[in-house]
Amino acid sequence: MDGPDESLIDSRELALRRLPSVDRALRHEGVARLVDEHGRSFVTAQLRALLAELRARTGTGEPPAEALDDAALARALSERCARRLAPKLRSVLNLSGVVIHTNLGRAVLAQPALQQVLRSVSGACNLEYDLDTGRRGERDSLVEGLLAELTGAEAATVVNNNAAAVLLTIAAFARGHEVVVSRGELVEIGGAFRMPEIMECAGARMVEVGTTNRTHPHDYERAIGRRTALLMKVHTSNYRVQGFTASVDEATLARIAHAHGLALASDLGSGALVDLSTYGLPREPQPQPMLAAGCDVVTFSGDKLLGGPQAGLIVGTQAAVGKIRRHPLKRALRLSKLPLAMLEATLKLYLRPERLPIDLPTLRLLVRPLAAIRESAQALAPRFAEAVAPRYQASVVELASQIGSGSLPTETLPSAGLAIEPVRGFSSGIGSALEELAGVLRSLPTPVIGRVSQDRLLLDLRCLEDESALVALLPALRERLAR
Ligand SMILES: *Cc1c(COP(=O)(O)O)cnc(C)c1O
Repeated sequence: MDGPDESLIDSRELALRRLPSVDRALRHEGVARLVDEHGRSFVTAQLRALLAELRARTGTGEPPAEALDDAALARALSERCARRLAPKLRSVLNLSGVVIHTNLGRAVLAQPALQQVLRSVSGACNLEYDLDTGRRGERDSLVEGLLAELTGAEAATVVNNNAAAVLLTIAAFARGHEVVVSRGELVEIGGAFRMPEIMECAGARMVEVGTTNRTHPHDYERAIGRRTALLMKVHTSNYRVQGFTASVDEATLARIAHAHGLALASDLGSGALVDLSTYGLPREPQPQPMLAAGCDVVTFSGDKLLGGPQAGLIVGTQAAVGKIRRHPLKRALRLSKLPLAMLEATLKLYLRPERLPIDLPTLRLLVRPLAAIRESAQALAPRFAEAVAPRYQASVVELASQIGSGSLPTETLPSAGLAIEPVRGFSSGIGSALEELAGVLRSLPTPVIGRVSQDRLLLDLRCLEDESALVALLPALRERLAR
């Protein structure tokens, strides 16, 4: 071996010898401060892991600074402790252009809903306790009256999510029996919710009627037999059959069901509690007309257009909801006090419909005027362009936002944002340059989620109500792109 290698080996040896023992490191004042803050066992575990890492790195390459200097070691340990304690569930900027994005947590909760949770669950609460009588209460009663008032239903109950609501409804009505459903409505929702499999799980046999594009009243009539227990209508939330089509409306189906002594359930999916067209948005089916048409049960999600927490809302007749509530699965699928508190507060917002586009973030984002979004894009573009230069250039673009979570992807809302393109000569390929930028945006202290389309990275600003949240990230973006 010749000189340089030998000296490197020497410096490694020295660095390894120089690395403190756990006991010695714990005596360093920076480390002692961490012990005061977090306690001995957590800091010691982090310290052991850090020392093992440094030993391995020193053994294979240039000794890192932390291995040579106790103050640097204490700083590295402090960062390691902070990283270990940082939540995995983090707030992100949803600039994807999809307002109710399932992967980004669906509906953004309203402030009153969050305050209600803090107030009611920081201590004990009357979750199942009747304050009038001092006896055991029913958790459903916290929201049942509100849901009945808002939808016109006789009764209501709530469960973990809409998938659970559908499962429970089918189990309660049709376990060991048949459910009749149109072939045009056998939906699959993201994340493995497929109507045929839900039926199977609920112990019901699915009887498909009609064809993909056309189903008629007599198709249902013919399928009804001794084993039939339920007719089911499913809102085709994320797709549409167009052209030569026919389907049977709820009023007709209710007449057929009731004439045979059967129940009719309707799975709305998103389900809006207010008529969205009065706010200038595409119409979405509401539970109110479904109940008025004679559905015995209507189910929908709490965290889609309703704008609340994850929940499955079940509204319907006293008899139908009673049957559902008494089923043993109800106990397994029940809603916890946190979403219940949020749901109650969110539903209360609906008592003041004129204020809804201000108070309910989901609706506020959906109705946000194009002019305001465009203005925001124009203000941000030069600052953003400066942060990504010289490797990328940014400009204002017109975009189309989607409502998301099962509202038609074809119905979009005019929006605006930033388009970022790689500048020729700074990177090997457009694809990899965009991927790198998307990765850097995701790595920011508050991750920024955009979308790549046609050789550009697009940031739809509809959901960025506070520009300063993005502006605050620009120094970190600039610094990371310069690395
Ligand atoms: C979204 C959706 C569901 C599932 O609801 P979750 O609240 O996500 O469980 C079921 N049916 C339809 C039609 C839907 O759109």
